[in-house]
Amino acid sequence: MSAVQRIEAGRLVPGRGEPIRDGCVVLEDDAIRYAGPLAQAPATPGAAVFQVPTVMPGLWDCHTHFMGSITPDLASLAASPPALLAMRAARDAAVALDAGFTSVREVGGLGVWVARAVEEGTVQGPSVYAAGAVLSTTGGHADLHMFPPDWVCDLADRVGMLRQCDGVPECLKAVRLQLRNGARLIKICASGGVMSEIDNPIHQQFSGEEMRAIVEEAGRAERIVAAHCHGKPGIMAALEAGVRTIEHGTYLDEEAADAMRESGAVLVPTRHIVEEFLAHGKASGLPDYACRKLVAIADRHFEAIAVAHDRGVSIALGTDIAGSGRSAPAHWGQNGSELSHLVRAGLSSLEAIEAATAAGPSTLGPQAPRSGVLAEGYGADVIGVGGDPVGDVSLLAEPSNVTHVWKAGSLVKAPAAGSGTTGSSSPSPSSS
Ligand SMILES: [Zn+2]
Repeated sequence: MSAVQRIEAGRLVPGRGEPIRDGCVVLEDDAIRYAGPLAQAPATPGAAVFQVPTVMPGLWDCHTHFMGSITPDLASLAASPPALLAMRAARDAAVALDAGFTSVREVGGLGVWVARAVEEGTVQGPSVYAAGAVLSTTGGHADLHMFPPDWVCDLADRVGMLRQCDGVPECLKAVRLQLRNGARLIKICASGGVMSEIDNPIHQQFSGEEMRAIVEEAGRAERIVAAHCHGKPGIMAALEAGVRTIEHGTYLDEEAADAMRESGAVLVPTRHIVEEFLAHGKASGLPDYACRKLVAIADRHFEAIAVAHDRGVSIALGTDIAGSGRSAPAHWGQNGSELSHLVRAGLSSLEAIEAATAAGPSTLGPQAPRSGVLAEGYGADVIGVGGDPVGDVSLLAEPSNVTHVWKAGSLVKAPAAGSGTTGSSSPSPSSS
């Protein structure tokens, strides 16, 4: 017999499209059977009934890292036992789910292993679509410039968060190694970055030939490529090579935005990490070189989001959250903060919500699940919110405002019995 649950809400926010007043979502096992006006909802005798102010799709964060890192200095990863990092990452997964994030795209770190632990039921967490290691050139953004290169290569083999590859044969091998570990997408650094010591965020990394080889190899396995990219030369080369998503996109101008729109590429801007590190980075141990690079890109990065929005580029929510534990800046659980940043950059609140829900699967190409929308036949990843996130998206930044979380139809978060703040969370005797 199938399990039916009925969620009645003052407001149904479908993920794409206009909200519905007095809505209802019916879940049957792990799928949505009905989503629409309460007045037209099917009868569900014997169903568990829930009442919430707002029902909406489970949230997506499309740029995260399960690195288990408690400081923002990437050099510290080299000095930490991988088992310790993994234990922290397991906790971060649970924290993300509690914040209403039922799916995350993980673009470099331990995510391939977190995904497996979540799938087998060992760890409670979102569905994880992970890249395995970040691929970069030697001396590029995913290299630890302060250590000898051979030693960093050894680290890549042991821990597998970062990998350097140069020339087409090494790039192909690097892609195949990620696929071997269960990667659902491939992540490359098409420009320098902020957190790396020596390189310049404006400079392109990887040649067009290397990027094309990576995109083709990933494509043979039905995977897309996500490109970390600040500078315009790298953005243009990545788009030319067929990359599906541009991460950060700092020096995106009108020409680059038009190229993105025409190729159907998606921008994942990651404003949260910029704001967090501007506010708390130095005090929390962000190295001086990263502080300097951050200040140099911060204003332009914000403008790029507005340019992309104005030119009609699709935008998916991403935070670049990697921090583990509440004392780390940009830590897991803050994922919902990004919506407010997107609104400040010019998106409407419904557009920001779409970036956080319906747009998520579009960053995965052929690996995309049916998720991110409240509609019949989609996966039953659903949240209840104690307020009106369309009126104020900042509500979604605070995990306690997400009162209910269903993942694949399982209720994994609900108010404690008798708390009485958000209506009934247990099967109601007055089921319809
Ligand atoms: Zn990142």
